[in-house]
Amino acid sequence: MFEKIYKTRREKFGAIISLEHPEALIYINEKVANMLKIPQPSFELPPTFLSAPLDVHFSLTSNCKYKCEGCYQKNLINNNNVDIQYQQAKTIIDNLSGMNVFTVAFGGGEPLLNNDLFQIATYTRNKKIIPTLTTSGYEITTLDPQKFRVFSNIHLSIHSLEDLDLLEKNISHLRKTGIYPGLNILLSRKTFPYLDDIFQFIKLNKIRKVLFLKFKINDNNFQSSYLKLSIEDEQKLYPILKKFSKKLQIKIIIDCSLFPAIAIHRGCPKRIVKYYRTSIMIDNLYSNYTINKKRPGRGRFLFM
Ligand code: SF4
Repeated sequence: MFEKIYKTRREKFGAIISLEHPEALIYINEKVANMLKIPQPSFELPPTFLSAPLDVHFSLTSNCKYKCEGCYQKNLINNNNVDIQYQQAKTIIDNLSGMNVFTVAFGGGEPLLNNDLFQIATYTRNKKIIPTLTTSGYEITTLDPQKFRVFSNIHLSIHSLEDLDLLEKNISHLRKTGIYPGLNILLSRKTFPYLDDIFQFIKLNKIRKVLFLKFKINDNNFQSSYLKLSIEDEQKLYPILKKFSKKLQIKIIIDCSLFPAIAIHRGCPKRIVKYYRTSIMIDNLYSNYTINKKRPGRGRFLFM
């Protein structure tokens, strides 16, 4: 296993090891970290928390050709779209590399509309950070599927049943080069009542990995509050996901904001490891999120 190590990072408890195939983050104690000769950082490690984010979500543009109801993006709604420029992106990636971040998930808007996307992803990989992509799939079929091999994971988004036709075309296009994309399903009034149909689609298209995301309300989409699921519906989710994950043998990942609704069920793991993620947004602000700490808030973006 150890010859497959992609990257390591010291922490107060020992270290974290990242593997790409199979995809994993492994937490080890100090004794094993010393045995593996994982280098010590040049700074004092924080005593109770991770030294840096594990995963960073990086919005490369606010541009998108779709107008999904409930979209989180402000600039898109105001038709005032901005792209991150290549040099800016490089500075940010350099800083994340210095912090020993393990993965960067590129998103938007629609990240494929940033002309520098593949160049930025290649730069990220050269900096020993694993790049992943979340896309609505806009015009994937017009692009050479080989270009997508730079990404460790590609996730295609579903906001409603209407997305399935386009998704099917995109999935078969990517499969030409052996890429098996996963799905991101936004759980809202437009998807939750149709989960049976969506799982049928997953089965037919041999999807192996599905991420369920909670639809959230922010300053830009509060007019669409009616799309949000009730607590009662969120609590129905766990048995449904358990049934389908077993039946279809797929990997299901759940947005951390759904954990309170999941955790009420018997047999569900109650102990959740602290997860530390940062999002970099197009307006040059960043947010930190943790599961079991209150959101620390937004601040001026530090990396420029
Ligand atoms: S695809 Fe994503 S970014 Fe584009 S409008 Fe829909 S939710 Fe917004």
